[in-house]
Amino acid sequence: MKCKLELGNGKDILFWQDTWCMVRPLKEVFQDLFRFVDNGLGTVDNLWCQVRDEGEWRLNFRRNPYDWEVDSMRRLEGLLKDFSVLPDRSDSRTWVLDPKCGFSVRSCYRSLQANSQEEFPADSVWRSIPPSKVTFTMWAACLLKLPTIDSLKRRGIVLANRCEMCGVTEETCNHLFLHYKVASELWAFVAYSFNISWCIPQSVEQLLFMWPKVKLPAKGRKLWLMIPHAVIWTIWKTRNDVIFKGETRQFDKIILFFKGLIFHWSRSLDWASRYRFEDFVFSWESLLKSM
Ligand SMILES: [Zn+2]
Repeated sequence: MKCKLELGNGKDILFWQDTWCMVRPLKEVFQDLFRFVDNGLGTVDNLWCQVRDEGEWRLNFRRNPYDWEVDSMRRLEGLLKDFSVLPDRSDSRTWVLDPKCGFSVRSCYRSLQANSQEEFPADSVWRSIPPSKVTFTMWAACLLKLPTIDSLKRRGIVLANRCEMCGVTEETCNHLFLHYKVASELWAFVAYSFNISWCIPQSVEQLLFMWPKVKLPAKGRKLWLMIPHAVIWTIWKTRNDVIFKGETRQFDKIILFFKGLIFHWSRSLDWASRYRFEDFVFSWESLLKSM
């Protein structure tokens, strides 16, 4: 991450994965386009077509961009105009933190200390109350590393990508957890329950950056901070039950599972210990008002 890659012949630089033409890898900056690239692990020279002294970029996508992806595609094409592959020169790396002397553990450690709070919403991921399998799932969802169909395809598994939950589009992590119909209904239920208005963000990572900033009474705060984990775990469990056990996805059942999680996780909170499971199921709204 702290290495600056200087483009030469492009044989040692992964086009989407490495940081070479921007300050972040292209797969992060152009997440929408990365979903339908043909080969997410291709090197830069794979996508460059050299004819004598001239060359041009030949990006490989599995389909044409949809209307809402055209702007991103233009931005990427505009960006690439400033770069060209130099067939006679090898790619090189410079240690950004100390270009003169090169890599040292000291410079690496200092930079990790300085940046650890900014780049990843770690505090929001590793909450103490939800079980570790849930926090791990949240961590993987943030980094787009859960085995959703798009992710499996990027790892080279040959699969048709159709979201099993809605059947209308491709399955990606952010679609599944934020934008697919039942997920957005679950988020709407949460917003209604806590009487807040908000826009569903683009990614799970963005969600975790903004979630602690929503204004709520101090008393319910610990419960509030667990909500994203409960929603993500509910949807992931439902999705896996649909795919692997052939179960149906009824919204009532999804809400019940979600409330069950909140009930179990809230046992350690003083105010919640006086409520029974039935209160969470049948008196949800009045219970939240009593916080
Ligand atoms: Zn879907």
